[in-house]
Amino acid sequence: MSFSPIFPGSVDASGQPATLGVMGGGQLGRMFVHAAQRLGYFTAVLDPDPQSPAGCVSHHHIQTGYSDGKGLKQLVSLCAAVTTEFENVPADALQALAVSRPVAPDAAAVAIAQNRIEEKAHFTASAGVAGVTCAPYAVIETPTQLAAVPADLLPGILKTARMGYDGKGQVRVANMAELTAAWADLKGVPCVLEKLLPLKAECSVIVARGWDGAITGFTPQYNVHVGGILAVTAAYEGNMPSALALRARSATESIASHIGYVGVLCVEFFVIDDGSADGALVVNEMAPRPHNSGHYTMDACDVSQFDLQVHAMAGLPLPAPRQHSPAIMLNLLGDVWFDAAGQLRTPDWQAVLALPGIHLHLYGKLEARAGRKMGHLTITGADIAGVKAVARQAAQILALPGLDQLE
Ligand code: ADP
Ligand code: MG
Repeated sequence: MSFSPIFPGSVDASGQPATLGVMGGGQLGRMFVHAAQRLGYFTAVLDPDPQSPAGCVSHHHIQTGYSDGKGLKQLVSLCAAVTTEFENVPADALQALAVSRPVAPDAAAVAIAQNRIEEKAHFTASAGVAGVTCAPYAVIETPTQLAAVPADLLPGILKTARMGYDGKGQVRVANMAELTAAWADLKGVPCVLEKLLPLKAECSVIVARGWDGAITGFTPQYNVHVGGILAVTAAYEGNMPSALALRARSATESIASHIGYVGVLCVEFFVIDDGSADGALVVNEMAPRPHNSGHYTMDACDVSQFDLQVHAMAGLPLPAPRQHSPAIMLNLLGDVWFDAAGQLRTPDWQAVLALPGIHLHLYGKLEARAGRKMGHLTITGADIAGVKAVARQAAQILALPGLDQLE
């Protein structure tokens, strides 16, 4: 598709500065806003929460619901292009915006990522070119489909088709009786049952694709989840076998190109034990936006995932990023703000910030709650051993989990 670039710092005939919009005001929107503003764009955030992390740092903050006609109209009048920072933005809102403005990623791509049934159908359809497929699964929308579930999908994980994230909306089931009970507990909403796979590791790949089909991206990150939430991302040479890393990157590019995707896309993979030394890749899910596992790119690469999102949506060139430092990212959940007795406390920033190569990012959320993503730490350094040593110190000071699962 031909696309006239929206250059930062430009002002149109009516005096309007080049402004980029984002649906959603969470931390991903905030870091997107920071990247856009650094280049010289004005920004507009649509999010109903008056204290949303992105709204607080944006030139414009439209405080309406995502489907509110007036809010969407205001976004259109302010912005030259619009993106999204969470996958549960209503697809019709993106469609309405797309009538008059470039929207990247588009409603169709976001709709696929919103629904595990469509997502798995897309992975299955692109498996030929991508060279990877998803876990064996069955769609469960009716009692008949439930009764027909093949026995070899058990034990498995029942996942709601919609609105699942950070391990929410998922139940592990060992047998047919547990599956039946779990589906009833989930009120019989559309679900997929996935076979429980023997995971050796998990990784993710972030790519960015432009309006012209040009594509670039990062090498795969190695991820550790604790309690269904990302805890640690390791990004350095040797974090996973290089043949697998190449395959994951190329599969991600195929998955993006197959649907003409525009913007930053993250695809999560499992590495499963198939008896081979490296293990085999299985595609898990995709996020139509920058991703928690790519936060290290802000401090360890010359171009971050948020820079690439800005470039892609505005039709600017997509330079290949170069990682200049090994990195470990540690997520900071609200739990860090509570002591062993459950009392609120200020984390020991004094000790953490004294460590070399520490980059602290807090998202401006005023209330800490267990499991809530409050910020992250990225540790960079001259070599992997040094980065690991500092990460261990930071994790010990703040009682952060997951690092022990890194080799
Ligand atoms: P979410 O949308 O909450 O991230 P995921 O489908 O990625 O949901 O599942 C969360 C985590 O649960 C995964 O990162 C992985 O650790 C585990 N998991 C999910 N599906 C499977 C599976 N089929 N086999 C084994 N582990 C799984
Ligand atoms: Mg996931």
